Amino acid sequence: MSEPKRYLVTSALPYANGPLHIGHIGGAYLNADIYVRYLRMKGKDVAFICGSDEHGAAITLRAKKEGKTPREIVDYYHELMKKAFADFGISFDEYHRTSSDEHREMSQEVFKKLEAQGSFEVETSQQYYDEEAKQFLADRYITGTCPNCSSDKAYGDQCEKCGRSLSPLELIDPKSTLSGSKPVLKETSHWYLPMAHHESWIRDYIGKGEYQDKPHHDPKEWKAHVVGQCMSWVDGGLQSRAMTRDLEWGVPVPVAGADGKVLYVWLDAPIGYITNTKVWAEKNGKNWEDYWKSDESRLIHFIGKDNIVFHCIIFPIILKEHGGFILPYNVPANEFMNLEGDKISTSRNWAVWLHEYLEDFKGRQDEMRYVLCSIMPEQKDSEFTWTDFRDRVNNELADILGNYVNRVFVLMHKYYSGTVPEISGTPTEAEQAAATEARRAYEAVGKAIEQFKFREALAEAMNIARAGNKLLTETEPWKLMKTDPQATARILYACLNMVADAAAALSPFLPFTSGKIADALQINPRTWDEVIQREQISSGHTIGQLPILFEKITDETVAAQVEKLAQRQAENTATIEPIKDTIDFETFQKLDLRIVKVLAAEAVPKTKKLLKLTIDTGVDKRTVVSGIAEHYTPEDVIGKHVLFLANLAPRAIKGVESAGMILMAENPQGQLSILSTEREATTGSTVK
Ligand SMILES: [Zn+2]
Repeated sequence: MSEPKRYLVTSALPYANGPLHIGHIGGAYLNADIYVRYLRMKGKDVAFICGSDEHGAAITLRAKKEGKTPREIVDYYHELMKKAFADFGISFDEYHRTSSDEHREMSQEVFKKLEAQGSFEVETSQQYYDEEAKQFLADRYITGTCPNCSSDKAYGDQCEKCGRSLSPLELIDPKSTLSGSKPVLKETSHWYLPMAHHESWIRDYIGKGEYQDKPHHDPKEWKAHVVGQCMSWVDGGLQSRAMTRDLEWGVPVPVAGADGKVLYVWLDAPIGYITNTKVWAEKNGKNWEDYWKSDESRLIHFIGKDNIVFHCIIFPIILKEHGGFILPYNVPANEFMNLEGDKISTSRNWAVWLHEYLEDFKGRQDEMRYVLCSIMPEQKDSEFTWTDFRDRVNNELADILGNYVNRVFVLMHKYYSGTVPEISGTPTEAEQAAATEARRAYEAVGKAIEQFKFREALAEAMNIARAGNKLLTETEPWKLMKTDPQATARILYACLNMVADAAAALSPFLPFTSGKIADALQINPRTWDEVIQREQISSGHTIGQLPILFEKITDETVAAQVEKLAQRQAENTATIEPIKDTIDFETFQKLDLRIVKVLAAEAVPKTKKLLKLTIDTGVDKRTVVSGIAEHYTPEDVIGKHVLFLANLAPRAIKGVESAGMILMAENPQGQLSILSTEREATTGSTVK
């Protein structure tokens, strides 16, 4: 494939109903930003486009819950996300929004053209309608009992308990979340995209890279999991999909007879890429159509794996039906990033929120950029932990990169007062090896970025600093200075240039740090290829003072972040159990509840939770097994009076016969507490 004239790079439009977390960043934003920063250094014409996705039922639902308008919700999150992206150094050329007038016009224009040329099929169906709220109910507005797992909190599109995707008609006992009433079925019409008509060319486009009888991309370059997901969708049969919804918040359907209907959010959102390109182009004296309608442009969508079929199948169908648009050249979707052993979840508040990170770690964007790139889920799911964050920052950023740059600056100032010395003589083998390795690594960075292998690219960029460190360690200029000042000058000259090269190679990844190093070196930015072609720093150049690049992450910092997560989890799981079904008084009277004294206690071997207790019931002495070992030691309970159920049928627990049960309170966080009496109770007292 020949080199394109322009690049149009997009990141998934984040949904404006919650803040950004590190899983978002590692999925579709940091990788795109690295790619774009690299292209800019290569001198390419590139537009980096994103914006907030502000329509859809989840926004209106959230607004209702918080007693706000949808506009208030999206305004708040749009600003929060826009600022967090900017502060984190995600260098969008445009971050606009889908609730804008420009976007309404653009998406209506696309819909009208498709409607006029017969690209849609209008179908009438029965849908749930809330007679009190006087509106049709979007899937998310209906709750009921899941036919699969019987959870009574399933939504019309999905049961979050068992994960099954549902249609509203499958729910048992459906309820409207608007009024709480039982919805009725009512006829409504919608505009469907008959996707099956497009199967043949979609197969060629994704599988062979062909579009309109010519190669559109090299299919080998698409990630296997992206192609796999698309093909399994196509193989499963492409179902017609409604492109309109009965909702009050969204882009109104711009044709007659569509009152109260808006565009499906997954139709309108990707068109947001086009709108936002146009907004950017108009501000910058460019023509947006050059980026969207020219075969000499290359469109690349960075997204997470949950958006693959929308970007690889549905949006391309829309673009092709409209006509004139190029199709995505590549969609290098990432998999998911987990957090401390669990899926990141906005609704469960299990996340490292970007705006909180920026607050807690002021001026340390590059530390998180480095770690997220190092563990980016490029081919499979990955996991973020705070101890791993600490280790990577301390052992790699601080010990390898920070230490190398610092050593070179210290020696330059100590021996030459910061002015680069004249050099002479022939480089030794060690010097040549370092230079060769630095050059190789630098070129490998560019190749890996072009193939969307960002983890590999970052590792190669760090190899430049590693090569420099190795040269310093092998040649020990701080000793060599006394015996061979000529070689010392040559080595430090080379090391200083490797600092400049490392800063250049790392600048797409660590823009803040690279900027600090370049400022301290007192050099101007070079293009990517200039770094290969020539040395940056020559004899006579004077360098400045280097600030501290990386502070080490302390164990206390890690502990504080882990504690923050633990607290959230506790808040999450803290659900009070509902009251059980009523029993009659006779049933209660059958329970023999009494106060007993613990005489002896010991751990049950090979178990973590169990204690074997000998107790005095006042009538007899017995052995019981109790699951309290994680909460009480044997010493804690010996001699205590505790509440006991004495007539529970005996049962064997781990080979020990247990005759009765110690009663305990369990709080919502799962902590157990034995029950004692407020006044001194004697062994054998009964409980009534
Ligand atoms: Zn279920």
